[in-house]
Amino acid sequence: MSTVSLQHIKKTYEGNVTAVHDFNLEIADKEFIVLVGPSGCGKSTTLRMIAGLEDITDGDMFIDDTRVNDVEPKDRDIAMVFQNYALYPHMSVYENMAFALKLRKMPKDEIDKAVRQAAEILDITTYLDRKPKALSGGQRQRVAIGRAIVRNPKVFLMDEPLSNLDAKLRNQMRAEIIKLRQRIDTTFVYVTHDQTEAMTLGDRIVIMKDGLVQQIGTPQEVFDHP
Ligand code: ADP
Ligand code: ADP
Repeated sequence: MSTVSLQHIKKTYEGNVTAVHDFNLEIADKEFIVLVGPSGCGKSTTLRMIAGLEDITDGDMFIDDTRVNDVEPKDRDIAMVFQNYALYPHMSVYENMAFALKLRKMPKDEIDKAVRQAAEILDITTYLDRKPKALSGGQRQRVAIGRAIVRNPKVFLMDEPLSNLDAKLRNQMRAEIIKLRQRIDTTFVYVTHDQTEAMTLGDRIVIMKDGLVQQIGTPQEVFDHP
């Protein structure tokens, strides 16, 4: 069970740039929410506030029944995947995926089970021994997703995860994300500037502009009333 509640969330950066004004959203358990809009509209800021990587200037945020405004990122049970993969270059794929579990002192056999299960879901079992530099962009992004899901997070955040991939790979990975979604019990918040991605992935889409929410609805509602 993981709901996310954003109540009158506001973010003003130093220098007085208000990146997000009065953002309100109730995200249901296992829902797939897509934040979409042009560059600079406040998508990443919103995602980073959910992750706890950015302080909230005003408003309240809850994950399940816990107010998380002041909860450290590591205590939020959230995983995040970025556009640039951010894998550890000196570690193998296996070690990249195992790392966060080791930090949490999970027993080795449980780590091994979790890594292999995630690797199987993402079809990366055959290159567990490779270093990230020996992988293609699509493979690296699978590893980044694998590294996030081994922890079995309550909430899975993705910030433009496909925008460094070419069009063919992007379509393929989009299909992979749809499959992934059916296999893991997680609430998703996904950021993109790509409308097709938003329409194919989202249960609901949040359209943002200039730090404001313009519209929230299912793909059908958004398509019918743009
Ligand atoms: P998006 O993800 O939609 O491209 P962002 O959330 O990155 O938008 O940015 C929203 C606004 O906040 C932009 O005007 C951006 O320049 C500004 N901004 C983002 N990060 C910072 C920061 N660390 N300091 C000051 N302004 C920022
Ligand atoms: P440590 O640094 O504590 O030895 P490692 O990350 O090297 O931990 O490995 C942890 C466990 O996972 C070890 O038992 C190791 O044999 C196993 N392991 C590491 N890489 C792989 C891999 N690619 N395939 C299978 N098992 C692996």
